[in-house]
Amino acid sequence: MPSAAGRAPRARARDAKPPRVGILALQGDVVLHERALAACGATSVRVTLPEHLTGLDALVLPGGESTTMLRLLDSSGLRAPLERALRTLPVLGTCAGLILLARQADALPRPPLGVLDIDARRNGYGRQVHSFTDDVQLTVSGESVEGVFIRAPRITRRGRGVQVIATHEGEVVGVRQGRAVAIAFHPELTADTRTHAWFLRDVAGCLS
Ligand code: GLN
Repeated sequence: MPSAAGRAPRARARDAKPPRVGILALQGDVVLHERALAACGATSVRVTLPEHLTGLDALVLPGGESTTMLRLLDSSGLRAPLERALRTLPVLGTCAGLILLARQADALPRPPLGVLDIDARRNGYGRQVHSFTDDVQLTVSGESVEGVFIRAPRITRRGRGVQVIATHEGEVVGVRQGRAVAIAFHPELTADTRTHAWFLRDVAGCLS
């Protein structure tokens, strides 16, 4: 999946403009995704209003609190424009972002966005004190990365068209369906940008 270790990914050579990546910024872990995207050569845009969704090459749904994000999506009027944008935009959801992309998850105030044909169990590894860091296998490249799991969801159902991209101790912790990617852990909490770079290059096609 990622490029050879140590080689920094570049924005597409043919058009000099760096990729523009929106980060849903109603709540949650926005700043560290900005840092990871910048390290990959992408420009990030904080998405809090419908107009922030125009001109993007990809979107990130960060970790945080999925219940709060779903409530704020409704009260801000952003849900419908976001759903429209997600019909065409590549998207990376991490942790709470995975829950937002799922078809179903437990104990939510509103249905999630249903972009990926998966179901999720929130806080599937237990409470905050059960948070942990461990090696995750990126099955698309055979590499391993450090996975930080913080009140992470578990994927309880995967539809047929859903590809496994990451496992932890044999359990699926990352999936892809077309241009939508969801992972249960937090790649932005480490200095390793390979997961973001893989998403931008191999899924979104906006890095070379
Ligand atoms: N437990 C949170 C939720 O259900 C997700 C935690 C996270 O994003 N680190 O939304």
